[in-house]
Amino acid sequence: MRLILMGPPGAGKGTQARHVADHFGIPAISTGDIFRANVSAGTELGVEAQRYMDAGEYVPDEITNRMVRNRIDEADAEPGFLLDGYPRTLAQVEELDGMIRHTGHALDAAVVLTVDPEELVQRLLQRARTEGRADDTEDVIRRRQQVYREQTEPLIDVYRERKVLVEVDGMGSVDAVTERIFAALDDVPQS
Ligand code: AMP
Repeated sequence: MRLILMGPPGAGKGTQARHVADHFGIPAISTGDIFRANVSAGTELGVEAQRYMDAGEYVPDEITNRMVRNRIDEADAEPGFLLDGYPRTLAQVEELDGMIRHTGHALDAAVVLTVDPEELVQRLLQRARTEGRADDTEDVIRRRQQVYREQTEPLIDVYRERKVLVEVDGMGSVDAVTERIFAALDDVPQS
C-alpha cells in the first residue's frame, strides 16, 4: 500500500497517519518529524531546515526530495508506506512519481483531510500550548496556512484528475476520522 496523507496544518495528519500506517503494517513517514528530529540532533540538514520551518516556509524541494528518497529506500518501506506531509509542491509530486515508479508500484491513494479553517487555527493554538512547537505562534500559523493554500492545495486537483483522490471529513473525534479513512480506503484497490 502506497499512500499519501494531505491536509492543511492542524488537520490532524500526524495522528491519523500513525493509525492508518499501523492498520496497514507500513511505516508512516512524516517529513515534518524527520526535519524536527534533525533540528533536535543539530545535524547539517536540521540547521539548514530550521530557518524555513521557524518562518512557516517550506524547506526547499531539493533538500526535502533527497531526504524522502533516502527514507523510501530503507527496507521497512519496501512493502509500502504512508507519506505524511509530502508531497507539498507540484515539483515534489513529480519527484514522488519517479520514486514510486522506480519501485515498480503505483500510488494507491491520496487521502485529503478537509477541516473548517477557523477550527484549524484553534487546534494549532491549542497544540502550541500543549506541545510548544516553535512554529505554532499565531503569525507563523497564518503563514503556514497561506503557504498551504498557495503551494499545496493545487495538488488536490492533480490527484483528483488521476482518480486517486480520497476526500475525508476531518472534523470530529480522532476515532471518528480514523474510521472514515478506513472506510474510504476499503474501496481502494491495492497495487
Ligand atoms: P509538518 O509537521 O508536516 O507541519 O511540517 C513542519 C514543517 O516542516 C513545515 O512547515 C515545513 O517547513 C517543513 N516541511 C515538512 N514537510 C515538507 C515538505 N514536503 N516540503 C517542504 N517543507 C516541508
